[in-house]
Amino acid sequence: MAHVASSTPDWDYAARLTEARARIHTAEWSAGRAGSGVRLLVATKAWDADAAVAAVSAGASLVGESRMQELAVKGAPLKAAGAKVHVIGQLQRNKAATAVEFADCVQTVDSLALAERLSRLCEDAERSLDVMIQVNVSGEDSKAGVAPHEALALASATQRLPLLTVTGFMTIGLNSPDEAAVRAGYAQLAAVRDEALIRAERGDMPLRDAWELSMGMSNDLEWAIAEGATIVRVGTAIMGHRSR
Ligand SMILES: *Cc1c(COP(=O)(O)O)cnc(C)c1O
Repeated sequence: MAHVASSTPDWDYAARLTEARARIHTAEWSAGRAGSGVRLLVATKAWDADAAVAAVSAGASLVGESRMQELAVKGAPLKAAGAKVHVIGQLQRNKAATAVEFADCVQTVDSLALAERLSRLCEDAERSLDVMIQVNVSGEDSKAGVAPHEALALASATQRLPLLTVTGFMTIGLNSPDEAAVRAGYAQLAAVRDEALIRAERGDMPLRDAWELSMGMSNDLEWAIAEGATIVRVGTAIMGHRSR
């Protein structure tokens, strides 16, 4: 396979993947979660298909795409390379068809209208789709997602739609060097998950063995894992700094 336009040699991806996995491993250990299997999602936004596929060839099995124009181009090569693809960017309803065509999971469901659209598209495509509820834990207006107290109502309503399976909750943390403040946000997402478990026992939510918590990025994955992340989304630490 030729990776013509990638600015980073393939061996760098392998080395960076190894480094990221070592960070995850150490963070799990420090958090008393050794062996808990936190998954590494590689965020490839703004990188071309060759670069994204090179990362997959180097061992990235889970890829996150943020922009549907990019997913329309990278979706087929990523699938052909064997990657699972999650949508991690804000999804407009008029772009939902691209997500249904290529994604294994949409992590960014933030309204029932979007969930309904995905469900209808899944019926047309005769497929099922995993989704996660995006929660805004920082309260910043610029961040997408529902408020923490709205997350379970949206999860229940979404779960009732045909062909969608709610697998967990996702958040974009506070962009800050203040560990306590960032972790407080991640703890809020974990609290949503804990409440989901309680309601599931009462029969008010579907039962799952475990709910996913997608939180943490290149700069703060250790803090997210300390608060219970099951998926961390890492871009720069593996793909390099984006020039575009
Ligand atoms: C870009 C992006 C990431 C990765 O961020 P890095 O700081 O580059 O690791 C994670 N999550 C989302 C939603 C993103 O858009």
